[in-house]
This record gives sequence, C-alpha cells and structure tokens, in this order.
Amino acid sequence: MPEHLTNLIEELALANRILAHEGVLDAFGHVSVRHPSDPARYLLSSRARAPLLIEPDDVAEYNLDSEPLKRSTARPYSERVIHGCIYQARSDVIAVCHNHAPALMPFCVSGRPIVPVSHVGATMGDQAPFWDQAAEFGDTNLLVVKPEEGRSLARALGRHFVVLMRRHGSTVVGTSLKELVARSIFLCENARYQMQAYLLGTPMPLRPGEVKPSGDGNLSAGVIARNWEYWVHRLHLSGNWPLPAKPAGVAPAKAARRTQSRPARAASKKKKRR
Ligand code: MN
Repeated sequence: MPEHLTNLIEELALANRILAHEGVLDAFGHVSVRHPSDPARYLLSSRARAPLLIEPDDVAEYNLDSEPLKRSTARPYSERVIHGCIYQARSDVIAVCHNHAPALMPFCVSGRPIVPVSHVGATMGDQAPFWDQAAEFGDTNLLVVKPEEGRSLARALGRHFVVLMRRHGSTVVGTSLKELVARSIFLCENARYQMQAYLLGTPMPLRPGEVKPSGDGNLSAGVIARNWEYWVHRLHLSGNWPLPAKPAGVAPAKAARRTQSRPARAASKKKKRR
C-alpha cells in the first residue's frame, strides 16, 4: 500500500477518535474521507463500530454507490449512503462526518436555525440548511439508508458545509479531513454558545460580511494545525492514542481486543499507584 494512503488511513482512525473524544460522536456516527488517488472511492470503517474504537485495520474502500470494494463478513454502517451520495453530488468535498452531536440536537428537534455566533463558529458558513426526511419520504425509522434518501440529503446540503437533520443529527463536510474535524468541533462549540446566549436574551449572529473572513481565518493551515495538535494531545492524555503496537503474528480481531483493553488496564494501574 502506498505510504500516503497508509498515512491517510491512520489519520482517518485518528479523526474518528478525536471527534468521539471531543463529544461530536458517541457510539453512533461515522467519518469518511475520499480516496486520495481515485475520487470515485472513499474510505470508511468496514464495520459498524463506535468511532472512539476505530483503528486503521477497520478502514475499507467503498465506491460512490457505497458498496464495499472487497467482500467482508463485517456489518457496515447502515447510513453509509450519506457519504457516497454527498461525494457524488459535491466534487469539492473530501471528507464527511455524520453525527448526532448532543450540542446540535436541540436545534434538530426544535427546527430553530444554528447561526454563526462566534468567529470560530463562522467555519460553519453563513447557514446550515434543515433537512426534513418526512417531507419527502413520510414515516421512516429516521435512518438514511436508501440511495434516494442520501441524494435528498445531499440536495438539501447544497453548496453548504453543514446540514441539520430533523430529530436526528447533522452531516458536516470538509475540503480536507482535518478541516472537517475542525468544522465539526467548532460547530458544536458555536451551538453551545448560541444555546447559552438564549438564557441571556437573543443571540446576535456575526454580521453577514464577517462570516467568510472569520471562517476562512479559522480554517487556515496554521489554525487547523494548532487545534489538531491540541486535540491529538487531549486524546493522548485520555489513553486512546496512539494505538499500542500489535504483537507479531496476532490476527487482527485478537489484536483489536488487546488494543481496546490496554488503555483501561493502564488507567487501573495508575489508580493503584496513587
Ligand atoms: Mn444517524
């Protein structure tokens, strides 16, 4: 496997863990990145696993119809069409995160719009459209599993970077994986500020002319690198990164179990020492 692909797969595992550790993702939600040398493919975990636990060995390739390129017995994410349909609709999108972030849910439930209320929050763009699955598909289980549902969501996203999903969550896109991670975390922070501001009165969004310069500034390479280092460090302190080296000759499934248990073992040892 080429080194740049190996590095990107590791970055995708790291992005999953960062977004989980920062409260964007819980046991649900998923992150993907477009394949670096074939825009008609994307990379996503091959199995429906909690993002905090994703490791490079989980990552598989999918085509834009969200079919895995290699046959696998693993159960994939049921909502993976979200990723394929957005990559089909938006050639500029390189990474996608679908989430049910607690910070965003009050807006998804009430239908009240999220607006940029801080300079960092401006990375969400000028607006986040609201997609109501029932408007087109009637009563469903709220999951986006059919290609036509994914295409409808992609149409609602339009040219924007965030789409809120009624009573469900949101989908965020980026022109790079690290930009996606930054926008997703900053969006949740913005939503919390906006919610808290309702306690004091009416939240005042940025002026329309402030959104693009603020958003662009906070997605500059320097700002993203500074935040990325901070998020990786926080993940490291939590014991969820880096992954321990796999013992030679151990099958991936066994190695995965060891990987999961080791931070917990380390934590309990530390406690005993205290
Ligand atoms: Mn979902």
